[in-house]
Amino acid sequence: MSGVYLDYNATAPVRPVAIEAVADALRAGGNPSSVHAAGRAARARIEAARELVADLVAATPANVIFTSGGTEANNLAISGAIAAGSRRLIVSAVEHPSVLEFARASGVAVDTLPVGADGVAEVGWLDGRLNHSEKPFVALMLANNETGVIQPVAEAAERIRAAGGWLHVDAVQAAGKLVIEFEALGADTLSISAHKLGGPQGIGALVASSRATITRRQLGGGQERGYRGGTENVSGIAGFGAAAREAGAEVAAFQAHAAWRDTATLRLAAAGAVVIGSDAPRLANTLCVSTSGWTSDLQVIALDLAGVMISAGAACSSGKVKASAVLTAMGLDSLADGVIRVSGGWASSEADWNRFADAWVEAHQRHTARRRAAAA
Ligand code: PLP
Repeated sequence: MSGVYLDYNATAPVRPVAIEAVADALRAGGNPSSVHAAGRAARARIEAARELVADLVAATPANVIFTSGGTEANNLAISGAIAAGSRRLIVSAVEHPSVLEFARASGVAVDTLPVGADGVAEVGWLDGRLNHSEKPFVALMLANNETGVIQPVAEAAERIRAAGGWLHVDAVQAAGKLVIEFEALGADTLSISAHKLGGPQGIGALVASSRATITRRQLGGGQERGYRGGTENVSGIAGFGAAAREAGAEVAAFQAHAAWRDTATLRLAAAGAVVIGSDAPRLANTLCVSTSGWTSDLQVIALDLAGVMISAGAACSSGKVKASAVLTAMGLDSLADGVIRVSGGWASSEADWNRFADAWVEAHQRHTARRRAAAA
């Protein structure tokens, strides 16, 4: 990829080890359900990858169900909880649409777990609310895709476990960036997606503890222990495993990204930009920042022209820029117009963050000069 790529929270470049693993699996072929040698080799590839993905979150391989990605894993967890008797879904206000939209469309009552202005879920809100129904289901993500804010999941888990509830953790953005221990976290189910950590797109996993009853949503040949019919995406799974192994080995070193990000942030803040979620613990790689008088889309375009790829913090629908639901939940609607998200990852360097800051400061100066000239 040429230029400076700082949009890892959208998707990460695929790691060379994952590309190799995908290519190897494609070259080898074989249907993992076949009993002959090629089939057995494909099966072995899947099971080796299952161990690597399980290792990334300190889970048992038998608890890993491969899916088409984070979206499907999130959907699968919610439908499992509903089938198991949950009549009340509590979802944090900053969940990804694959949780929020699926919960809202499920026909089951949905309550919103609020977050503060710092983006952290107000876990105390759960007190007294979990006993209103049997088997309450709570979705609380580990780290937010827009702000990088890390949620107090273990704290929520204690309350949910005490109420006999089901805690689902969307760890799509956190996996490979934080140390995750599935059991210690207290989650019943947890989602991961390969393409956020340097694996291929279109493959992910739901990790489900023995406490969680997962329901079959895709019926067919009984693959993935019957939870998900359909010939497995062997090459994708192999790539996921290779990426998970490398990402897991790099988690400690990854924390160095925070210093690079923070140095860049100081230069933006000096020009009046406001950092979103700065009072909360955040992923080392993510910067969500708002600048007044300079819209997100103009910032993204200006940086793209300078060879730096970032993302707008607001979603654009039918030609209108809509405030991000995450910012609205934080009570920061007024900052939504000028929000950008900058996110590094496994191949990012300090020089990338410096180039981003140089390009942003330069473009901001040009934009401010133009605005002043227009106002004069
Ligand atoms: N959950 C979070 C927090 C995400 O950021 C994303 C992707 O943007 C997803 C779920 C969906 O993952 P996938 O793209 O693998 O379906």
